[in-house]
Amino acid sequence: MDKNLTMEKLVNLCKARGFVFQGSEIYGGFANTWDFGPVGVELKNNIKKAWWKRFVQEDPMAYGVDAAILMNPRVWEASGHVQSFSDPQLDCKSCKYRFRADNLIEEKFKDVDVERMTTKEMEDYINEHKIKCPHCGNFNWTPIRQFKLMFETSRGTVEGEKDIVYLRPETCQGEYVNFLNVQRTMRAKVPFAIAQIGKSFRNEITPGNFLFRTVEFEQMELQMFCHPNESMDIYNKYKERAMNFVEELGLTKDNLRFHDHEKLAHYAKAACDIQYQFPIGWQELNGIHHRGDWDLSRHSEFSGKNMEYLDPYTNEKYLPNVIEYSIGADRLTLAIMSEAYEEETLENGETRVVMHFKPFLAPFKVAVLPLQKNLSEKAKEVYKILSKEFMCDYDEAGSIGKRYRRQDEIGTPYCVTIDFDTLENNTVTIRDRDTMEQIRLPIQDLVSYIQKAIKF
Ligand code: ATP
Repeated sequence: MDKNLTMEKLVNLCKARGFVFQGSEIYGGFANTWDFGPVGVELKNNIKKAWWKRFVQEDPMAYGVDAAILMNPRVWEASGHVQSFSDPQLDCKSCKYRFRADNLIEEKFKDVDVERMTTKEMEDYINEHKIKCPHCGNFNWTPIRQFKLMFETSRGTVEGEKDIVYLRPETCQGEYVNFLNVQRTMRAKVPFAIAQIGKSFRNEITPGNFLFRTVEFEQMELQMFCHPNESMDIYNKYKERAMNFVEELGLTKDNLRFHDHEKLAHYAKAACDIQYQFPIGWQELNGIHHRGDWDLSRHSEFSGKNMEYLDPYTNEKYLPNVIEYSIGADRLTLAIMSEAYEEETLENGETRVVMHFKPFLAPFKVAVLPLQKNLSEKAKEVYKILSKEFMCDYDEAGSIGKRYRRQDEIGTPYCVTIDFDTLENNTVTIRDRDTMEQIRLPIQDLVSYIQKAIKF
């Protein structure tokens, strides 16, 4: 990550180059919603594809699902969300800004373990230490209230208590409720995993920091169902797999660390995050949680369906434990963009901004650039060949130097230039984004050359 990188620079680059736009921009935006543009959608899709490949495609014990966002409201009673999915909120009476009490304490007193505090303890702590409003500097707080994080909507034509439905605040319930379906149809033997990628919605008190915390986001989640005796081993294995995955995607060791939770949910046996050093500092990137048999026991109780597993080899009947691994696709995209960004000073003193994405993640794998407009017919022929295999960009406008810079800024690993020699001998130059070196290749070798470089 470039030491000059700020969130503002990244937001501006994203906007200028088609990675991410403000949601509903022509209406003045809609707070904390973001739209992925033509470049960003490719990057995010490639991240999701990489996750699916490692955790579903290559794992014989993992099965994918794509569950409905709207679920029977009983699901959220069973999961405990209706009763307790809330954050401690307090408002500054002077400037009306709203904060999370836990964040307020954490930001001021780094060593305090807010995770262990009750609402009352947080309130007392803020009063005793006279923590002031970070926005206006006054000390004039409302009492702490619990703020519900689930978005509610209603179904049907008549509004009323029983018509309330919720936008899911996490995808994992779609995996738990399908435990029996997947186990039966896939003849799955425990341990096995159910994985899913999908949208979640949270009415966050303090959203912000670009893609880091939004009210609508995508999660890549996997629940591993296992015997209680092997659950701790599997938990540790997933910690390692989760770390390897983000390193494979280009995040560097220096910017990654584990954070083991000390305060656990009453049902949990262990929990940790992987934190990443974002431009805003160290923050959670993903979570790995040992959830005991809480989820299946609650769904058994609330649905009346027995969710026990009968081991065909030992005849033991038991409720499997769950190891959950969950990572936000948008938050990971932000981490990958932050890591990839570099302002490089060139030999001639100019600076270029380069996004050093791993080639398999790059939005466009190759750009086809005719040196002059009258070479465009040949260039389009080359584009046609390459675009059958990869996402390709085509650009014939402006000086070649400017076109290279644009591709560097969107992280295209290769630029293919068509010149007059191409018409003579069917060869092109191919320029490497990182080294800026160029070699000459026959057109017929381009596909295999690029394919080799983008393998994941
Ligand atoms: P946080 O402590 O940051 O609120 P969390 O512990 O509530 O996160 P989980 O419920 O474990 O998060 O969700 C798993 C992952 O989903 C997180 O690690 C993060 O990558 C992503 N995520 C959660 N909330 C948001 C959000 N509001 N915006 C973007 N991504 C999110």
